[in-house]
Amino acid sequence: MMSHETNTFSPVVTDLDRFSGGHGTPLRGEAALQTYRGTASCLGGYIEVAEAQNVSIEMGIAAAAPPSGPVEDDAYAYMCDAIVELCQRVDALLLDLHGAMTTKTYDDGEGELLRRIRAKNPSLPIAISLDMHANITELMVSNCNVLTGYHTYPHIDMDSTARRGAEAFFAMLNGQTKPVLRWANAPMLPHVMRQGTDDEPNASLQAKAVELEQSGYLGVSVFTGFPHADIYDAGLSVVVMTDDNAEAAQSQVHELLNSAWQARHDFVYEIEPLPESMQRAKTAATSEGQGPVIVLDHYDNTASGGTMDTTEVLNAVLAAGLERVAVFGFYDPEVVEQMTAAGVGATITVELGGKLPMPALAAQSKPISLTGEVKLISNGKFQAQVAMARGLTINMGTSAVLSVGTVDIAIISRHIEPYDPECFRSLGMEPMAYDYVMLKSRIHYRVGFRNLAKQVIECAGRGVCTSDYSQLTFDKVRRPIYPLDQDGSGANEAWGLPPS
Ligand SMILES: [Zn+2]
Repeated sequence: MMSHETNTFSPVVTDLDRFSGGHGTPLRGEAALQTYRGTASCLGGYIEVAEAQNVSIEMGIAAAAPPSGPVEDDAYAYMCDAIVELCQRVDALLLDLHGAMTTKTYDDGEGELLRRIRAKNPSLPIAISLDMHANITELMVSNCNVLTGYHTYPHIDMDSTARRGAEAFFAMLNGQTKPVLRWANAPMLPHVMRQGTDDEPNASLQAKAVELEQSGYLGVSVFTGFPHADIYDAGLSVVVMTDDNAEAAQSQVHELLNSAWQARHDFVYEIEPLPESMQRAKTAATSEGQGPVIVLDHYDNTASGGTMDTTEVLNAVLAAGLERVAVFGFYDPEVVEQMTAAGVGATITVELGGKLPMPALAAQSKPISLTGEVKLISNGKFQAQVAMARGLTINMGTSAVLSVGTVDIAIISRHIEPYDPECFRSLGMEPMAYDYVMLKSRIHYRVGFRNLAKQVIECAGRGVCTSDYSQLTFDKVRRPIYPLDQDGSGANEAWGLPPS
């Protein structure tokens, strides 16, 4: 596994430690095998299928980092070297990649890895599994034999995606099938906030892909892409894998891309100004229904490369006087250290967040001065309980809870996305006991929180995961592309459609 979603606008450093889950360097060999066996992850799916075959398994490396800025060159070299070295002494390779990795040197981190592997061992059979946010390139598709992608966002089908790929791969190795891949992209950058598979248009696109797989296609993947990577091939793409039928693969690629293009307007997220969202939040607590109101700070989520330290939405929550609020969370190791030194029960004044400069944005976030009580200090580890990553240990680093009046704020030292209520519970906070739960998340919170909440208020704060593309400068992505270029400005013609 070499997995990273790179937000090229993010200032968060992506070094080898970030790929290690707190172990210093990524897990390898038996330790990696034991950590991932039986978990709801791609590696878990691969291991399950491979162990049912008469093969010996060698785990080269298990490296995954939370989304952030371009990968440091030495970290990338370490991971590639581990995989390329392995590839010179194995008969076949299963790779869990994300598909949107950009490094300081290479815009297409996965394509470059696959190119290096094939340069050393040209005939090595390779299967890859990719995240729905993969930005697909020719280098990736032409340097593997089997390719599968997730059908869900939140990603609750990582293990089954890998199983589907591994089964097709072993069928190929056993001479039962001849996988053929075809792919193409559409000139569109869907907003991440509109990519959830509970919602249209992606619900129907993914349902169609699943239907085709059930009818005999080896793999049909609609990648909504990751727009916060300013690389040439960013955006929506389709990869179809058939058993030795290039024509059918090509025609389904075109059909699915056409459906996605027709739905392009529904992939555009409408932004509500923060004061209006906060007004709705104020009245929502007394509305009908069980559970807390979720205040979603979606411009600054870890799972899209956010700094997880912008303060605009928390400021608005405090200014609006919202009470009984649980906040997850802030990445601020400095404040955690201060709180640890002060100890549980101490009253302390801290300057929270707003510390990581965001050069990609014109406007910056400022620290917020808070006085509160240190409620809890923790090592920040918990077992994931939800369908995404179930069975894996999540490491938030040393963590602390600051209580400011009735607002409890989780402050952590390693970035994680709050998709599992355990992130609160492991810090002694029961989300159901609060009137409001403020989350720095976009779509992934839905895995563990949507069913707990009576209402969700999406709040546009500040951060490098902004849904307002006009706040970002795109230099490399192919143009024209929708919605950066509107209908009539060439995007339709680029896709071979009449102007609209
Ligand atoms: Zn993703």
